[in-house]
Amino acid sequence: MKSPIQTYLEALHKELSSERGGQLASYIPELARVDAEQFGICLVTMDGVAYCVGDTGASFTIQSISKAFVYAAALADRGQEYVATKVGVEPSGDAFNSISLHPHTGAPLNPMINAGAIATTSIVAGDTPEAQWRRIEAAMAAFIGHEVSVDEAVCRSESETGHRNRAISWMLKNFNIVEGDPMAKLENYFRQCSILVNCRDLAYMAATLANNGTHPLSRVRTLPSEYVERVLGVMATCGMYDYAGSWLYEVGMPAKSGVGGGIVAVLPGRFGIGVFSPRLDEKGNSVRGIEVCKRLSRDIGLNIFSWT
Ligand code: GLU
Repeated sequence: MKSPIQTYLEALHKELSSERGGQLASYIPELARVDAEQFGICLVTMDGVAYCVGDTGASFTIQSISKAFVYAAALADRGQEYVATKVGVEPSGDAFNSISLHPHTGAPLNPMINAGAIATTSIVAGDTPEAQWRRIEAAMAAFIGHEVSVDEAVCRSESETGHRNRAISWMLKNFNIVEGDPMAKLENYFRQCSILVNCRDLAYMAATLANNGTHPLSRVRTLPSEYVERVLGVMATCGMYDYAGSWLYEVGMPAKSGVGGGIVAVLPGRFGIGVFSPRLDEKGNSVRGIEVCKRLSRDIGLNIFSWT
C-alpha cells in the first residue's frame, strides 16, 4: 500500500505543476538552456527512506546550495574560531552578489552571499588550490552519498562571465581574507557551484544535516555534530537570499536555495527535503520550490517554531 506521505506528495506535485510563474536564471548563459518545466520533490527520513515524486533524477547544477556544505567543511577543517576571522554570521538583507564586507576587517557578513562563500571556499583544508578542490569534492560526496561530477559547460560559463565575483575576490585579497592566489581559489568556487546534483541528492544532503551530520544510508559522519547547528543557524537566517526573513517567518526551516532551481530544507531530527524546479522569482528562489516548502510546513507541521 502507498504511504500517506507519498500520496500527499503526489497530490502536491500535481497541484503545483500548473504554477508557471518565474524565469530561468540567465546571468550565466548556460543556465538559460534547461527545461523550465522540470519539477521534483523528494523527502528523506532519518532512516534513509526517500519519498520522491516528479523529476527527482534530473541533473542540474547545485549553485549556491553548495555554500552551506562547503561552510560545513571549513568549520570541520579549521574550527569555528578561525573561520570567524574570515567570515561572519550576520544576515545581509542584500542580494547574493552584494559586496557586503565588514568595514574594518573586510570579512564578508555571512557565508551564504558570494563574498562569504568565496572566502569560505578559500580556507578549506589543502596546501594548494588543487588539493582544496579535492577536499571540496570529497565533502560534497560525503553529504550526497556518492561521487560527484561537474558540469564543465556551466563551469566555463561561470568563469567567463564572473567578473563581479572576480572583483569580490580581489577585494577579499586586499583585506587578507583570501590568502594566496585569489583567482585560483575563485575557480574552485565556480567549480563547486557547477557540481551536478538531482533532487534526490539534495534531499539526502538535507537529511544528513537533519541527522546531526551522519548520512542516513552510508552512516558516514560528514562533520562534527557541534558544527551542525552552526551550519543550520546560518542557513536559517541567511539561506534564502534577501527573502531569508520572510522565509523563516512563513516556512520556519533552515534552508538554502540556488539559482539552478534547487532548494534544500532541513527539519532537524525528522526530514531532509529537496525540491527542484528551475523557474526563479526576482530574488533568485525557485517559485514552485518556495510553494512546496510553504505547503509542507503548513500541511504536515514542519515549522521548527510550531508547538505540534
Ligand atoms: N555561481 C553563482 C554565482 O556566484 C551562484 C549563484 C547562486 O546560486 O546564487 O554567481
